[in-house]
Amino acid sequence: MTNSEDHERHERKHSSKHSSSKPSSSKAKPREDLDPPPADSHHRPRYFKNDAPTTRRDPKKQLIASLTRLLTSYPPQLIPPGGGLYYGPVSIAYLFFVLQRMYPEMLVEEQPLAVWSAAYLKQAENHMKSYPGPEAQKCGVSDDIMAMVAIDAASTRDADLVKELCEFANTTTEPGADNEWLYGRAGYLYLLRLVRVCFADDREVLDLIDDTADEVIELIMESPRPWKWHGKAYVGAVHGAIGIITQIVLTDGSWAPKLEADLVALLSYQYDSGNWPSSIPPGRDRLVQVCHGAPGVVISLMSIRKYFPKLQNKIDRAIARGRECILERGLLTKEPCLCHGISGNALALEDPDLEHFLTFSTGHEMKALEKDRMMEASDDPASLWTGEAGRAWAWAVADKGLERRLIGYNDV
Ligand SMILES: [Zn+2]
Repeated sequence: MTNSEDHERHERKHSSKHSSSKPSSSKAKPREDLDPPPADSHHRPRYFKNDAPTTRRDPKKQLIASLTRLLTSYPPQLIPPGGGLYYGPVSIAYLFFVLQRMYPEMLVEEQPLAVWSAAYLKQAENHMKSYPGPEAQKCGVSDDIMAMVAIDAASTRDADLVKELCEFANTTTEPGADNEWLYGRAGYLYLLRLVRVCFADDREVLDLIDDTADEVIELIMESPRPWKWHGKAYVGAVHGAIGIITQIVLTDGSWAPKLEADLVALLSYQYDSGNWPSSIPPGRDRLVQVCHGAPGVVISLMSIRKYFPKLQNKIDRAIARGRECILERGLLTKEPCLCHGISGNALALEDPDLEHFLTFSTGHEMKALEKDRMMEASDDPASLWTGEAGRAWAWAVADKGLERRLIGYNDV
């Protein structure tokens, strides 16, 4: 069947490595019989069979190792500009910004995490002139200017910066602005929340943020269903309906009753396998990752479940079935990352499965897979949603026993 459902629009085109060699890694067993590999990857399967005994690594040690690799392999001055919270220097700055609050004492490469946050932000600021700023079709978390203003406002608690962030509503409320998270209004809602939590005791600022969010949410709600991005009715967390529902509900839970029908429809799209289609009408059941498929839906459902008391049984069944699919098909051969890799998929699981999945994202394991040409390298190997910074986030979640959340998506 030819359809473009597996075309992941947010991933840049990459050159693929070709090999037919078998993996020497202890746990890597290809699963080509069930899931033929995409044409460009030759003999590399889409995922590994999940049949090795459950193991774990020390998450704190792995977190420090991951951050050290990030700083030594991808220091601030080497990160190309662009990408907002999704990839690029701002995304890495945001990781360190969030982690420094969780690990105020931690030093990596002899510096506290706050220093590294500032260094990556500085790299982004050095390229300020090359950032176009938001427009109606690019007004989500991937916009650098909006993301930088938000991080700045959150770290300085400067009310003028909040006003500046809220003025971007002039763009996000333009007719025809996109609604999804990466490039649309739902992503702007995340930026508003990230600032809001830092002004919990400032009524005036909270009112301004809430009024702005309200205006944006009303426009998303008035948009015809199904919500579409580039003409397609996407379902997943990054471009689709579950991402939009999640951002609205986490921003203002009082909208949940009005989103019940949308959520019921979304739950009904679940395949018998437990996975979700990338878009509607459904095509082949292929992708099991945060951006397209069960992992993104499950992680979203976990965080919005409490706002839908009437649907809780349905949601719980959907999560359980989704997890079965992720356990079977979620050990991806793409380089471990949050958006379309093992680190993100792990966050949809409970212990000990989460920690077991993460054992595939250690430096040691990745080297072995790379050597065997069993890993499809990322185009942005440093960044928050596509590389090392996201692997670090998953280790931090495991280390602190945090709720399974995606940084930049549903962690606030
Ligand atoms: Zn992705």
